Amino acid sequence: MRLKFKPWADDYIKNNPNLFIRSIEELREYINGSQKICVEVGCGKGKFIRETAIQNPDVKFIAIERYKTVIVSAAQPLEETPIPNLKFFSEDVDTFINDSSLDGKLDTLYLNFSDPWPKKRHIKRRLTYKTKLDLYEKLLAKDGCIKMKTDNQALFEYSLSSFSKSKWDLDNISLDLHATDRENIVTEYEEKFSELGFRICYLEARKVLNE
Ligand code: SAM
Repeated sequence: MRLKFKPWADDYIKNNPNLFIRSIEELREYINGSQKICVEVGCGKGKFIRETAIQNPDVKFIAIERYKTVIVSAAQPLEETPIPNLKFFSEDVDTFINDSSLDGKLDTLYLNFSDPWPKKRHIKRRLTYKTKLDLYEKLLAKDGCIKMKTDNQALFEYSLSSFSKSKWDLDNISLDLHATDRENIVTEYEEKFSELGFRICYLEARKVLNE
C-alpha cells in the first residue's frame, strides 16, 4: 500500500474519540460488558470492517492498523455518522495482543490480505507465524475463530501448514472463495486483485482444545 504522509493524522486521532481507541484504558472501556467482540488486524482503508459492523450491530468491532496515515482513511467516512459498534486502534497487533484485557474474549479475528513477507528472513513478521498464532489463541474465546482471506497462494500454503503444525482445526477452506456461495464482504485489496484475475483463498481456523 502506498503511504501518503498526513501530518494531521495524529491530531485527527486525538480529536475523534468517537472513532478511535487511543489508549488501553479506552480499549477496556469500549469492550466493557460486550457479549461479542471481533477484531480485524490490518484493516487498511476499512471498507470490510465498516460494512461488517453495520451488518452486525450487536457485535463490537475493533479495527487495528499500524499506520496512522492509513487508519485515518478508514475512519474518515464515519466522521459525520460514526458506527457505535466500531472503533479504530492505531497500533501494531503485538502491542494490542500484549494487553490482557481481551484474553479469552474474541469471537472472530479477521486476517484480510495480510502482508505476505515473501523473504525467508522476514518469516517471523507473517501474521500467521507460529508465535503469532499462540498469541491469537490467548485472545480467542473457547469457540472463537480466525478467518483469513488472501490472494497470495504462497502465504496461504504457508498459513495452512503453520495452523496445522500448531494444532488448529481448519474448516471451510477454499482456493477460490468467489466461486463459492459463501457470504462475503469484499475488502479494498480483494476488489483490486480479484479484478486482476487473482483467485481469493479462504480458511477458518479454530484451536483444538485439549480437555
Ligand atoms: N485488509 C485490507 C484489505 O484487505 O484491503 C488491507 C490489506 S494491506 C495488504 C495489509 C494492511 O495490514 C496494511 O495496511 C498494513 O499496514 C497492515 N498491517 C500489517 N502488519 C500489521 C501489524 N503487525 N499490525 C497492524 N497492522 C498491520
